[in-house]
Amino acid sequence: CGIFGIVGHPEASNLAYLGLHALQHRGQESAGIVASDGERLRAHLAMGHVADIFTAPVIESLPGGAAIGHVRYSTAGGSRLKNAQPLSVEYVGGQMSVAHNGNLVNAEELRKSLEADGAIFQSDADTEVIIHLIARSKKATFEDKVVEALSRVKGAYSLLFLTEKKLVAVRDPFGFRPLVLGRLKNSWVLASETTALDLIEAEFIRELEAGEMVVIDEDGLRTSNPFPPSRLGRCIFEHVYFAKPDSVLFGTSVYETRKELGRQLAREQPVPGADLVIAVPDSGVPAAIGYSQASGIPYDVGLIRSHYVGRTFIEPQQSIRHFGVKLKLSAVRQVLKGKRVVVVDDSIVRGTTSRKIVKMLKAAGAVEVHLRISSPPTQWPCYYGIDTPSRQELIASSHTVEEIARYVTADSLGYVSLEGLGNAVGDRERTTFCTACFSGKYLTGNFAPGSADEEK
Ligand code: 5GP
Ligand code: SF4
Ligand code: MG
Repeated sequence: CGIFGIVGHPEASNLAYLGLHALQHRGQESAGIVASDGERLRAHLAMGHVADIFTAPVIESLPGGAAIGHVRYSTAGGSRLKNAQPLSVEYVGGQMSVAHNGNLVNAEELRKSLEADGAIFQSDADTEVIIHLIARSKKATFEDKVVEALSRVKGAYSLLFLTEKKLVAVRDPFGFRPLVLGRLKNSWVLASETTALDLIEAEFIRELEAGEMVVIDEDGLRTSNPFPPSRLGRCIFEHVYFAKPDSVLFGTSVYETRKELGRQLAREQPVPGADLVIAVPDSGVPAAIGYSQASGIPYDVGLIRSHYVGRTFIEPQQSIRHFGVKLKLSAVRQVLKGKRVVVVDDSIVRGTTSRKIVKMLKAAGAVEVHLRISSPPTQWPCYYGIDTPSRQELIASSHTVEEIARYVTADSLGYVSLEGLGNAVGDRERTTFCTACFSGKYLTGNFAPGSADEEK
C-alpha cells in the first residue's frame, strides 16, 4: 500500500490526490482521502484508481488544511470497500482516521481478545485492531494513546493518523516499510516514497527513523523515538520490485540499486555469446540495462508493455492474472528473430508469467532464451505487507533452479545470490534489511497466522 499526508496547506486534499497518484503503483484496488478543517474529518473512499475516484467535485467536498490518503492492495483482509483506507471512527476522544502500509503479525490474536471483550469490528483489515487499542487507551493525549496501542502490535507498520487537530506518523521499529518527511513551503508532507514529494515539488527532508513518531499540530512538529529498534528490517524487496525507480529509498536510489543488481547478475550469471539483452518491462528494465553494461551485450527492446493494464500481480483473481500477461506484453519480432536472447526480470513468483514470456519470445523468433532474475529465488511468503502467495504456490519453494528453467521452458535460468543482493543495497552482512522471502529468516520470530509450519 501507499500512504500520503499533508498538514498546513489550504489545498490539502488536492495535494493528497496528487501524492496518491504518484504512489498508485503501491496499490490499485482502492483509494481514500480524509481531510480535516480543524473541526471535523471528511472522507471519501472508493474502489479503483486514484484518478478515477478523485474528481474535482469530490476533492472540493474534502476541505481543510490537513489530509491523509491511502492506496490499497489487499494483504490482510479481502478486496472490498469496507477494507478501504483511511479507516475512520468516532470514539470518546473525537474523530480519528488511520492509513496503514504494512501488515501486523499478531492482529488475529489481538482481535480475538478484543472481541472477547465486546469489541465490534467493521472490517477484516488488521489495521482496525490499532483503532480499537487507541480508543480503549486511558492515556491523556492522542499520541500517548497511539504509543500505548502500538506497543502491543507486532509486525510491519508505516502509519499516518489524522484527528481534527493533529497528524501523527509512525514507523515500526524494524522499519519494514518506508516513510519519508518533506516540506512544501509552510506545510509538512509525509509519503511512502520520495516520488510523491517530487510530484508536488516538496523538498525531501529525510526518512523517518525506524521506531520514530512524528506529531504535527498547531505547535509545529515534534519527534520522539518510542519504539527503539533492536535490529533493522527494511524490506529488501522494495528495492527489487515494489518501489518506483525514481524514488530514494532507505537512503539509496532505487534505480541505481536495480541497475547494480543487473550488473551483479551479469557477473554471477553470464550468458557467453548472447546477441542481446532485453527486459521484461517495466520492473525488469533497470536491471537489464545494468546487465547489458556489465556484460557488453547490447540492450534492446524486445517486449512492449501496454500501459492500459495494471500490475498483474496486484490483481487478486487468478482468472484475471492468467489473461494479464498477453494483455500486458507483446514481443517485437524484428528485434528477436534469429537471436540468442538474455531476458531480465526482477523475480519469479509462481512462474506462470515467466513461462508465458519465454514462449512468447520463442514464438517471435528467438532461437535461445536465457532468463536472468535480479533477485534470489522467492521461497517464502511475506507477512509484512507484500502480497506474495502461499508457500506452496511459490515455485522456488519446491523446485530447483534447473526444474524451474524446465518449467518456464528457458534454455537457462540464473538468479542473483543473496550475497549479491546484499551488496547491491549496500548491506554486505545483511543486518539492516529483511530478506525473509528469500532467506526464510522472519525477524518477528514466532508469529503463527495459521502457518507455524512456515517458520524458520
Ligand atoms: P511469475 O513468473 O512468477 O508468474 O511472475 C513474475 C512477475 O511477477 C515478474 O515480472 C515480477 O515483476 C512480478 N512480481 C513481482 N513481485 C511479485 C509478487 O510479490 N507477487 C507476484 N505474484 N508477482 C510479482
Ligand atoms: Fe520485504 Fe520479503 Fe521481508 Fe516481505 S519478506 S518485508 S517482501 S523482504
Ligand atoms: Mg514484472
